[in-house]
Amino acid sequence: MVTQYKNLIGGKMVTTDRMLDVVNPATEQVIGQVPACGKAELDEAVAAARAAFKTWKNTPIEERRAAIMAISGAIKENAEELYRLLTSEQGKPHDQAKGEIYGAAGMSAAQSTLSLDDEINEDSDTRLSRTRRVPVGVVAGIVPWNFPVMMAVQKIAPAMLSGCTIVLKPSPFTPLTTLRIAELIADKVPAGVVNIITGEDDLGPLMTSHPDIDKITFTGSTATGKKIMEGASADLKRITLELGGNDASIVLPDADPKKVAEQLFWSSFSNAGQICVAAKRVYIHEDIYDELSAAIVEYAKTVTVGDGAQQGTGVGPIQNKKQYERVLELIEDAKDNGYKFLLGGNADPSGTGYFVPLTIIDNPPEDARIVAEEQFGPVMPLMKFSTEEEVIARANASEYGLAGAVWTGNPDNGVKIAEQLETGTVWVNEYLHLSPFAPFGGHKQSGFGAEYGKEGLKEFTYSQVITVKKEKAPA
Ligand code: NAD
Repeated sequence: MVTQYKNLIGGKMVTTDRMLDVVNPATEQVIGQVPACGKAELDEAVAAARAAFKTWKNTPIEERRAAIMAISGAIKENAEELYRLLTSEQGKPHDQAKGEIYGAAGMSAAQSTLSLDDEINEDSDTRLSRTRRVPVGVVAGIVPWNFPVMMAVQKIAPAMLSGCTIVLKPSPFTPLTTLRIAELIADKVPAGVVNIITGEDDLGPLMTSHPDIDKITFTGSTATGKKIMEGASADLKRITLELGGNDASIVLPDADPKKVAEQLFWSSFSNAGQICVAAKRVYIHEDIYDELSAAIVEYAKTVTVGDGAQQGTGVGPIQNKKQYERVLELIEDAKDNGYKFLLGGNADPSGTGYFVPLTIIDNPPEDARIVAEEQFGPVMPLMKFSTEEEVIARANASEYGLAGAVWTGNPDNGVKIAEQLETGTVWVNEYLHLSPFAPFGGHKQSGFGAEYGKEGLKEFTYSQVITVKKEKAPA
């Protein structure tokens, strides 16, 4: 019997007549069903969020913080059940799923400590001018399938903290863990403040065009982000877009191949490469190219690809069939063009599960599809470079600008290079570290606005300036 999950609308767990199947990408078995919402259910959720907004926006911030902490606590208390469910729908190995669940609990707790204080613009004999922040209203959160829980919580927490209410839509591929969390928090958050509804991709445009939604916060592909921006222009909804990336890692000749090989491997292959900020292009200086590429391949041979629920699995399947086929297409393209494979490249599309062997490609040209496009899978192109100037130009020659990394024995020089990269985040000698207190957002076509930190929180608010004329006291 397949478990049926419910949606959270106006504080109640509810369902619809039509259901969607959710598939485990390792077994291709249906593991759950979720409501397939349309306009009627969306209208109900938006009405619940609108009604709750009246009270929530005036609820003291300490109470809003407490409600976020209650969500964080519920996630932590049920972590084991949640990470197992997450592995079954998303595919990532248990230890990485555990990291996502505890990460979501920790990030939301940390975000709840933020605040946006009033700012005094002028306090003179004649005038007092003050800027305050007011919540934008009802927010729609739209989430992808690679980090379904982390992305959901990183939208819910700042929305709640700012005084907004939210209608959240998980990806139709990975809604189960989020709906289980919905059930766990239904009686911990005032009715209507957080609503979670599921549906197919066509539910997204209904949200973008909904007249009673004030803001869209979206994480997903650049192609969908553009559609959202276009849709939101009709009534000038506020938007935050966290989009795709084609991040470059630059390894300088003074980096120690033995030290960095394993970290470089995981920067590309964690979550089977399905991370917006994964290292998708790795540039290695020619002096250490042979030694480092051999060390990465050696390490890769020790990592097992398989069902994330099985002990010892390091890399799970691709999350869904469409993405699996896209990754195989990029591998075929590399083969057709005669690029050299240092590892992998031979998937078995007739087998069960969307598994792609760990694949490392040797020095493909810049215009190879595997270099120019976002692969979002376990395929790592390694490229040789000669000078810093050349590699900076090659790293920046992308329409994306999400993140990047520099690996070096000289961190000061690493920072000089980092400052020349056209991306929202650059790591020196580390990777994938995100802070709840630092803005995370993309340059160029990787995004619009930011999440996290005060900058991220501000995106859920308008500024309002109150200016009071002071009367001169009678002489
Ligand atoms: P996607 O754009 O296909 O889908 C994301 C969400 O948008 C899903 O919930 C989907 O149902 C919904 N959607 C689809 N069409 C829509 C439309 N026309 N209007 C509104 N909503 C719509 O992305 P995906 O394949 O789920 O995720 C992978 C992409 O997400 C990659 O490009 C990755 O780099 C990016 N991503 C970015 C970040 C970041 O923070 N920058 C984080 C994770 C993933």
